[in-house]
Amino acid sequence: MKKYTGKGIYGAVAMGKIAIFHKEKTDAQPGLAAETSVEKARLAEALTEAGKQLREVYDRALREVGEADARIFEVHRMLLEDVDYVGLIENTIESQRVNAEYAVTAAADRYAEMFAAMEDADMRARAADVRDISDRLIANLRGEGIRRQESAEKVILCAADLSPSETISLDRENILALVTAHGSVNSHSAILARGMQIPAVVGVGEDFLAEVAEGSRAIVDGYEGEILVDPDLETCNTYADRQRAAGERKRLLQQLRGKENITVDGREVRVLANIGDIRDIVAALQNDAGGIGLFRSESLYLESRDYPAEERQFAVYKQALESMGGRKVIIRTLDIGADKQADYFGLKKEENPALGCRAIRICLARPELFKTQLRALYRASAYGDLGILFPMITGVAELEKVLDICREVREELDARNVPYSPDVELGIMIETPAAALISDRLAPMVDFFSVGTNDLIQYTLACDRQNPDVQAFVDPYHEAILRLIRMSADNARRHGTRIGICGELAADTNLTETFLRMGIDELSVSPAFVLEVRDKVRSLDLSQ
Ligand code: PEP
Ligand code: MG
Repeated sequence: MKKYTGKGIYGAVAMGKIAIFHKEKTDAQPGLAAETSVEKARLAEALTEAGKQLREVYDRALREVGEADARIFEVHRMLLEDVDYVGLIENTIESQRVNAEYAVTAAADRYAEMFAAMEDADMRARAADVRDISDRLIANLRGEGIRRQESAEKVILCAADLSPSETISLDRENILALVTAHGSVNSHSAILARGMQIPAVVGVGEDFLAEVAEGSRAIVDGYEGEILVDPDLETCNTYADRQRAAGERKRLLQQLRGKENITVDGREVRVLANIGDIRDIVAALQNDAGGIGLFRSESLYLESRDYPAEERQFAVYKQALESMGGRKVIIRTLDIGADKQADYFGLKKEENPALGCRAIRICLARPELFKTQLRALYRASAYGDLGILFPMITGVAELEKVLDICREVREELDARNVPYSPDVELGIMIETPAAALISDRLAPMVDFFSVGTNDLIQYTLACDRQNPDVQAFVDPYHEAILRLIRMSADNARRHGTRIGICGELAADTNLTETFLRMGIDELSVSPAFVLEVRDKVRSLDLSQ
């Protein structure tokens, strides 16, 4: 038995035979163009064909993995229409008098190099997207089309890397698990694989593909990010037990749907869902979330090419409130900046973006932008139970400004007789050490606190959450973090302010009891963890 280690993308276990995915070789050799006009016409045809294919792939992805993950194929299609990209290919044909295949490869190299040199990990991942499109164009120019993986038996599919098009074109009925030698957890392929809900491991290294043989038996452990090739009988039995237990656990958790969410000693705790996109509401409802504890509204801005209009925002917020049928929906105002960038904001490049202009700082610097979002939120409040949450608060004066702007927005709506709920609750993220340390001053100013442990950890332990090299220094159980949360909870209680946790730590069931004993009222977690946390809450007796 040989063990290989990478990064787990989706937590589940699979056992079966390995099948190696061989990429079509699409590198084009320079060939002289007999007629540049002929090459350009061939290119135009290949582009049209690729557009059609991508529309089909998008539809398929939409059905299989949902709109959020399918969107990458729309991005690919947009690149096909990008005048700079297509112009570069045409110019290469014209100026170098080469065939279309070679010009496409040259353009892909230029673009991929440009993306690969970027600092932002998401932008670097775009290099793979450009290669994907170029492979598609070259296959079309050669009349090959994009090959689909067909297999009679369910297999563990192993590849050097998988482009998003390849991932989505896989026949998921025949795939037990996915393993790639390269790739990062944030690549679009990884996201798509996660959406397919099959065990997946990326970055197992070159050796793996060199050593592993087609047809070998293997176990893929998506929890630990491990591949065990040629496992012995005892290991197989251990993993078979784990698989059975995981399936049984899932079934059991489903039985909690509709049940009360109280501890053994009768304390009611709300377990809500975090969503990044309106489409995630489906998963929140499927897992019977008590409401939405964090709607990261920046998704609306990140998916647009320009500032989303008030009407568009209003429609999305209204839909969220209506879909949750009267359950609480907490929508966080724009938290853009740092790792979340949209070109049209024209934000300056910063040396330390996590400590720079982000979130509420941008909103206060651009009050019209902020007021547009607040108007949309207040108008939507007439359709449900809304809480508005402000990110990255560090001080009293800053919060006063925020509350003044909210007041102005309400007065303007009153003057125009626009209806809104009088019961909208206002809250702040406790995600900076400063906010936790002055939580006694902030608590009387708002209705609720929501602890953002992701940023609280980054700022308290001085570990950039984007930097994989410092993750070894991150101890989420660090006493400093727990003290700051406890301090915030104590101050919240003294002033009758509700307090919840919406950072990733809220889903850590090793801490549920600690949090509840601190007086935390709500836990907001990814939809997939809602039932697990509810189960934990129901098992606790806090009377002892
Ligand atoms: C947090 O910081 O914990 C949080 C919930 O916000 P985000 O992860 O969106 O920064
Ligand atoms: Mg945060």
